[in-house]
Amino acid sequence: MENQTFAIIKPDAVKNKDTGLILDRILKAGFHILAGKLLHISLQQAEGFYDIHKGKPFYDELIEFMSSGQCMVLALEKENAVEEWRNTIGATNPAEAAEGTIRKDFATNVGLNAVHGSDSNENAQKEIAFFFSDSELRGNQ
Ligand code: UDP
Ligand code: MG
Repeated sequence: MENQTFAIIKPDAVKNKDTGLILDRILKAGFHILAGKLLHISLQQAEGFYDIHKGKPFYDELIEFMSSGQCMVLALEKENAVEEWRNTIGATNPAEAAEGTIRKDFATNVGLNAVHGSDSNENAQKEIAFFFSDSELRGNQ
């Protein structure tokens, strides 16, 4: 599906009480929130979700951070959703993120960078399925 992507408001942003402001950015950018929930994921879940990064130097820190507190997981809809959401969040490192992007405005550093965004349609569908059940994704249909 080319109109869906997966987002996380990461534990740093939830702790900083930026959840509401980031949800507002999402809606104002024209995304429809198909599904969303607050979770405190386990270390094992974080390992499963970030399996593709296993072995990288930042991996241990990443999974510890992602399981360190509540996060909000979201299934988002918009035309060309993956690219649109990546543009809305900005570069991985907030020091390199463009003005007006979510990471520029809310991230602390390259690790604690406020939000996640899928990098392809294929991964978006995998990531949505990792966190949401069919009934959670049914929307208003
Ligand atoms: N990350 C990090 N250091 C790095 C690169 C990535 O701590 O040098 C963390 C950061 O939280 C990032 C996540 O690992 O969001 C996944 O990395 P990826 O390269 O997929 O970046 P993203 O797709 O999130 O922009
Ligand atoms: Mg990525």
